[in-house]
Amino acid sequence: MKRAYNFNAGPSSLPLSVLKRAQEELLNFQNTGMSVMELSHRSKEYDAVHNRAQTLLRKLMNVPETHDILFLQGGASLQFSMVPMNLLHEGEVGNYVLTDSWSDKALKEAKKVGKTHVAASSKEDRYKYIPKIDDIRLSDHAAYLHITSNNTIAGTQWHEFPNVVTNLIADMSSDILSREIDVEKFALIYAGAQKNLGPSGVTVVIIRKDLLEKSSDSLPTMLNYKTYSESRSLYNTPPTFAIYMLSLVLEWVEEQGGVKAIEKRNREKAALLYNCIDESDGFYRAHAEKGSRSFMNVTFTLPNEELTKKFLTEAKERGLIGLAGHRSVGGCRASIYNAVDYEACEVLVDFMQKFKKNVS
Ligand code: PMP
Repeated sequence: MKRAYNFNAGPSSLPLSVLKRAQEELLNFQNTGMSVMELSHRSKEYDAVHNRAQTLLRKLMNVPETHDILFLQGGASLQFSMVPMNLLHEGEVGNYVLTDSWSDKALKEAKKVGKTHVAASSKEDRYKYIPKIDDIRLSDHAAYLHITSNNTIAGTQWHEFPNVVTNLIADMSSDILSREIDVEKFALIYAGAQKNLGPSGVTVVIIRKDLLEKSSDSLPTMLNYKTYSESRSLYNTPPTFAIYMLSLVLEWVEEQGGVKAIEKRNREKAALLYNCIDESDGFYRAHAEKGSRSFMNVTFTLPNEELTKKFLTEAKERGLIGLAGHRSVGGCRASIYNAVDYEACEVLVDFMQKFKKNVS
């Protein structure tokens, strides 16, 4: 069986051992005579899976007891709306840092709910960098400051987080569990699972418990964080298979030596690719400025459109998949999430070097 070198931006690569385990357990999960997809979400077998996913995530991310871990649906996109619906009230302002079209979308949804303010932005410079922390200007009566810790499209990442007087909220969809972070600094973290956590279908929300009191009882039940907190995210039928896959991915992260070891490897993978770009005499150019480069999404361009097309076609022939940049920015992007191994990055670098040589 030949597996692709998968550089998709999400859904994206999953660890082979996780896929194999899911395959092994597919028809008869723990002697239940059925697949995990066919189990009742109220069964003790499913409950153990659900619990394990929450417990392991808490352990791996070092989530303090002050914070709750919730499993939702609707993707990170629903969080763009749920954050302001739950946490932005009359007389308050939702503050946003614009670093990519995802943060732009988060802002757009917040505007439908209440007052907003752009606290910093790199939009004018095609989102090539993360604004300096000192340049962040909060509004009065800020309910929170929303940032996107890793910008999947631009290929930029916050390498240091602001210490703000308000609640810090982060969309970590594309870098959750890829590096050690201090969860305590954040009032709320959210992430769709389909990059570092598992398949699409489940969204993780980590929320400081005192914030749950801010959610109004007049909110629709399914849009209120309290519903998930009070029911251990079992108010209704959760995406059981996605949560099961999440639990397997978390076990895999633990086997790898935890987040610390994963981070080390991610840094090495990114360095390999950025070195190749930087040493190409300008043939490949990184989109992101040096200090803001992402360890997850490496965005770069070639000298022209024609070469870009040729590059993508030949890469595909070599089994290197998913390297086209996002449709809004073009160019190329290699997404090197946790499950993309070092060897895949070596194969890509080898291909990039040979491609350059052949067309020069
Ligand atoms: N935020 C970021 C940073 C993303 O990368 C994405 C998806 N690629 C989203 C939000 C939207 O996520 P979803 O498709 O889960 O709604």
